[in-house]
Amino acid sequence: MRLVLLGAPGAGKGTQAKKLIEKYQIPQISTGDILRKAVADGTPLGKEAKSYMDKGELVPDSVVIGLVKERLSQDDCTNGYILDGFPRNTAQAETLDSVLADMNASLDVALSVDVDMDILMKRLTGRRTCKSCGQMFNVHFSAPKKEGICDKCDGELYQRDDDQEETIKKRLDVYEEQTAPLIDYYSNKGILTSVNGVGNMEDIFKEVIAKLDTVTK
Ligand code: AMP
Repeated sequence: MRLVLLGAPGAGKGTQAKKLIEKYQIPQISTGDILRKAVADGTPLGKEAKSYMDKGELVPDSVVIGLVKERLSQDDCTNGYILDGFPRNTAQAETLDSVLADMNASLDVALSVDVDMDILMKRLTGRRTCKSCGQMFNVHFSAPKKEGICDKCDGELYQRDDDQEETIKKRLDVYEEQTAPLIDYYSNKGILTSVNGVGNMEDIFKEVIAKLDTVTK
């Protein structure tokens, strides 16, 4: 299954993607994760990307498309994949269609995870991640027992550079302006489905599976 996950920052795409990996045994391709790794490794690409990411802006299409093309050609993508955070605008979506056409492939489904703006703001400003084990917390919804310390491994919790309030506002604006139009883009292609992204993670996942089953049968 070739799947695109759509949804604003903080909608829970990454969380659902992790569960989909297990269920369908296909990889998650998160351009945000790939870019954050390049930043952490201090590569030239990472250095270029960081200036955009810290401002909450999109990294130039040419950079991101190159990364995705390379990733899609790897062996583990043969049976499908979950694209998370890509495409982010119409130009990326059109390029993806033509890259896939060149590979004699097409997308099966675009799944939109829908969450209201005020909830997104709390989810993003409250998000904390463990430096050691990657466990996520939220100071508004699922606070760690000790402030700044991971419940699981006592690791130090940190806030992503782009989860600061001003950057979050910018990221949500960018989403509305550039990414939300993709909902119509995929709806016009007849491959859009959506779930309500508010509530219990397991319940949302059940809805995701039910929706994907109807689309892919
Ligand atoms: P994310 O983790 O998906 O929210 O991405 C974090 C940041 O990485 C975004 O705010 C952008 O600066 C950058 N980024 C991730 N994916 C893309 C993409 N497909 N196109 C452009 N920039 C992206």
